[in-house]
Amino acid sequence: MENFLMYIGRVYQGRDSKAHRHKKNEGGSISQADHEKLTEASGIGIVTSDAEGKITSWNYAAERMFGIQSSAAIGKSMEIIIPKRFRDAHRAGLRRVAGGGSSSLIGQTVEVMAIRADGTEFPIILSLACWDSGGEMHFGAFMTDITERRAAEAKLEHRATHDQLTRLLGQKAFEHELARSLEDSACVAVFMIDLDNFKSINDSLGHPVGDTLLQSFALRLKAIAAPSWIIGRLGGDEFAIAVPIDAPLPDIQNTVDGLMRRISKTFSVDGHRLQIFASIGVAFGPTDSDNAEELIALADRAMFQAKRSGGRKVKLFDQAMRADIAARRQINDALILASKRDEWELFFQPQFDLSTRQLTGAEVLLRWRHPELGLIEPAVFMPVLETHLVAFEVGQWVLDESCRQLAAWRKTELKLPRISVNLFAAQFHAPSLKGNVMRTLAHHGLEPQDIELEITEKITLNFDRASIGPLYDLVACGVGVALDDFGTGFASLATLTRAPITQLKIDRRFVENIADDPHNRAVVAGMVAISDTLDVGLIAEGVETLEQAEQLQAMGCQIVQGFLFGKPMSAKDFEKFYFDRVACAAVA
Ligand code: C2E
Ligand code: CA
Ligand code: CA
Repeated sequence: MENFLMYIGRVYQGRDSKAHRHKKNEGGSISQADHEKLTEASGIGIVTSDAEGKITSWNYAAERMFGIQSSAAIGKSMEIIIPKRFRDAHRAGLRRVAGGGSSSLIGQTVEVMAIRADGTEFPIILSLACWDSGGEMHFGAFMTDITERRAAEAKLEHRATHDQLTRLLGQKAFEHELARSLEDSACVAVFMIDLDNFKSINDSLGHPVGDTLLQSFALRLKAIAAPSWIIGRLGGDEFAIAVPIDAPLPDIQNTVDGLMRRISKTFSVDGHRLQIFASIGVAFGPTDSDNAEELIALADRAMFQAKRSGGRKVKLFDQAMRADIAARRQINDALILASKRDEWELFFQPQFDLSTRQLTGAEVLLRWRHPELGLIEPAVFMPVLETHLVAFEVGQWVLDESCRQLAAWRKTELKLPRISVNLFAAQFHAPSLKGNVMRTLAHHGLEPQDIELEITEKITLNFDRASIGPLYDLVACGVGVALDDFGTGFASLATLTRAPITQLKIDRRFVENIADDPHNRAVVAGMVAISDTLDVGLIAEGVETLEQAEQLQAMGCQIVQGFLFGKPMSAKDFEKFYFDRVACAAVA
C-alpha cells in the first residue's frame, strides 16, 4: 500500500508540472496521459481537491462508489462525501494543512464512514496524500468501498459468537452481553435453564429430532422474550436468559411462572408430540454478584439444586449455596494437594455370609487423612472428587492399593476371599479399563476372581453398549461387577439389561425399614426374585440390627454388609478384627 501511495504521489507531483506535461515517456516514468488512464481504470476511488477542499478530479470508480457523476462532483466541496458529523473535523484539518500544519491523516490508511448521493453511509478505507504545487496545496483521496468485507466479517463474527444450531448467543457472547446489561440496568435476573428430559428424547428418537427440538425450544424462548432480554445457549441442553428488571424480587415470580408454563407446552417435532421439562436456577445481579461470569455460575449452582431436588423446579440462589460453593472450591484445591501429599487411605468393611457365618470379602472405602482436619469421610469430598481431574488418578490408586493390600494379607494368615472396589466414572473409559484392571491384578499376583468392581447406574447411564464392552470382557475373564445402590435410581432395571452385572447390592434405604415397612419388604422380595431369575449374586448393605439381618435371611438374602458386622476400618484394624474373629471361632 505504501508503495502504491508513493507511486500515486509521484503521479500527482508530475501532473501539475507543465514541463513534464507532454513529455515523452523517458527513463521508465509514464506519461501524463497514461496516468489519467490508470486513474480512470483504477478500482479505487481517486478524488483530488484544492486547498479549499473543492473537488478538482473524480474518477470512474468514485462515480460508481458515490453515485455522483464527475461532472456533478468537480467544483463541489469534498464535504458531499463526508457524513455531516465529520465535516467540522474535515474543515479543521484543511485549515491546519493550509496554515502550514500537518494532518494526522496524511500518509495513513484509515477506515472511515463515507456518504453516497442517496444519503446512505458506508465504510471505506481512505488514504490521503497532499502536495504543494506552485505554492498551493492539493489533496488526493484514495478510497476503497469495504461494505462487503465488513458484511463478511460481521457474518464471521456472528458465527463465532452465536450458536449455529439455535442462532442464540454462545457462552462467551452471552457473558459479554450480560456484563453490558449489568452496567446499564439497576438489576438483572439471570435464569439458567437445563432441560430435564432432553437426553432421553435425543437417545430414543435420534439426534435430528433432538436438534429440531432444541431449535424449536430456542424459538419459543425468543417468542416469550421482551426485546431487552438476552438469550443464550451455553451448552447441549443448557440455556440462559438475562432479564433486566427494576428490583430483585417482586416482578420475578410472574416471569418464572410464565417461563415454566410456556416451556412445558408440547412441541411437535417430526410427527412426535414432545413435552420438555426444565430445571431453572435464578441469580440476581448486582445483589448476588456484579460480575457476569460469576453470576452465571451462581445461577448454574441454583439450577443444579433444582435438578438435584427432582427437576421441574425453580430455585433462587441463596446464601447456603454460596457457602456450599466456597466449601467446594476449598475442597477442589485441597484435593490436588491430597494426591500430591499421599493423603489417601483405604478402609475395609467386611461382608458376611449369614448362612455359613464366613467372611466373603470386604468393600474398600476411601478416606482422606487431612493434615489439619484429620480423617475426612467421602460424604464431604466425594461430590467434588467425582468430577475432579484427579478422580482417575485416585481411582487407579484405590485399585492398585486394594490389590496390594489383599495380596499382602494373603501372604499372612489373613485369607480374605475377595475385595470390592468402587469405580469412578472417570475410570470407566474404554479401552483402558480392562487393561488397567488386568494389569493391576497380574502385578500383585491376583486372579480376576479376587476382585469385584462396584458401579452405580450413574456410571452406566451415560455409556452406550460400545463403551460398556470392556466391562463385558472383564466379566468374561472372571472379574465380578456389582450394581451398587440398587433400586435408588430410576433406571436400575434398565441397567441390568445394559451392563454385565454379577451381583446386586440392595441399598441401605430398603434395609433400614425392612422390619416395619411392608413396601420396603416388597421391594427387597422383588430384588431377591430378580437375583434368582437372572442368576446374579445379592448382597444387602447397611445392616445395623439383628432384626434386619434375620429378616433379610428369611427373605433369601444371605450376604450382608453393615455396622452390625463391622464398620469400615483401617487395614490395621481389619487385621485385628479378622484375627479376633478367628480366635473367637477357635474358642467356640
Ligand atoms: P457406598 O459404595 O454405597 O458405600 C457404602 C457406604 O455405606 C459407606 O460409606 C459405608 O461406611 C456406609 N455403611 C456401611 N454399612 C453401614 C451401616 O450399617 N449403616 C450406615 N449408616 N452406613 C453404612 P462411606 O465409606 O462414607 O462411603 C460413601 C460413598 O463414597 C460410597 O458409598 C461410595 O459411593 C463412595 N466411595 C467410597 N470410597 C470410594 C472409592 O474408593 N471410589 C469411589 N469411586 N467411590 C467411593
Ligand atoms: Ca459401594
Ligand atoms: Ca452402596
